[in-house]
Amino acid sequence: MSALTHIHKITLIPGDGIGPEVAAAMVSVVEAAGKLTGCAFEWHSFECGAEAYEKNGEILPQAALDSIAADKVAIKGPTATPIGGGFSSINVAMRKKFDLYNNFRPVKSLPGIKTNYPGIDMIIFRENTEDLYAGLEVMINPDIAQSLKIITRKGSTRIARSAFEYAKKHGRKKIHAIHKANIMKKSDGLFLECCKAVAAEYPEITYAEHIVDNTCMQLVMNPYQYDVILTENLYGDILSDLCSGLIGGLGLVPGANLGADTAIFEAVHGSAPDIAGQDKANPTALIQSAVLMLHHIDEAEAANKLQAAVEKVYAEGKSTTRDVGGSVGTKAFTEAVIAAL
Ligand code: ATP
Repeated sequence: MSALTHIHKITLIPGDGIGPEVAAAMVSVVEAAGKLTGCAFEWHSFECGAEAYEKNGEILPQAALDSIAADKVAIKGPTATPIGGGFSSINVAMRKKFDLYNNFRPVKSLPGIKTNYPGIDMIIFRENTEDLYAGLEVMINPDIAQSLKIITRKGSTRIARSAFEYAKKHGRKKIHAIHKANIMKKSDGLFLECCKAVAAEYPEITYAEHIVDNTCMQLVMNPYQYDVILTENLYGDILSDLCSGLIGGLGLVPGANLGADTAIFEAVHGSAPDIAGQDKANPTALIQSAVLMLHHIDEAEAANKLQAAVEKVYAEGKSTTRDVGGSVGTKAFTEAVIAAL
């Protein structure tokens, strides 16, 4: 390692279920890419989630939050929320704490995976802090529960601006705002009003609005009509899983939670307890989340090399995991990516 090597401090949360397996895979390929391009990493690792709660009595230790606040960049595997006991989700808590309002999810086909829709390339911008995920729920009486859907002008405008700025910078041509304003006239109506106002500042980008149920059908009939999807928290959560199915499943789609000064990278998938600890998990989603992270910390060369290595392994098709029709385990896939680097 040369004296010029830049050392990036990154908070790492391996998480629950398949989390530790995919996190270990991610760390080893990022280290390998860094060695090739002259950057290094200091990982600050913390146990968080349901398994950490059983072990240490805490689901999200203050030390982990302090580390994220200091490092400004974190990458995490999926974390589960202990059932019962009134715990709120770690993801929701971290998104609120660091105001990570922009959940950025690129959905792009990889070579060599057989799907009904080759050549998908779209981005989902999901508002990450409001909507029904604001966590404002009450039991009105034992038989009636109420969840509050919060949509604000500030929240809607800033996610719309993120989507339009991204589209302008990266040559994306079309943005669809996804909503249900025909029923939720006030909340989704406000969301659309804000999207429309931002769209007016970007006349070079085509702006359209689709109702969320129609969008689900359209995505299955003709996904190619979408370029950038801009939506609220709940619709974004659901559409992300749908879109991951278009390109081969949850094991592939990366994500970033972005705020004004902090970024947490994580895969779209959950902790998949059915395959945990069996060397079956596909680490591609977290590895591609790390590619987004490398771009974020201005290590484009390492990012591009790592992405190229992943695509090479998929194009060759000999070392892919079972969820995408292959036959190898997490470790063998990881070794193949390192060899491709
Ligand atoms: P959550 O509610 O935590 O978001 P989810 O309901 O989206 O979770 P997941 O845990 O993401 O569910 O997984 C659903 C199924 O998809 C799993 O049971 C597993 O079989 C498969 N799966 C998810 N992620 C992966 C992966 N990385 N590799 C292989 N299979 C996966």
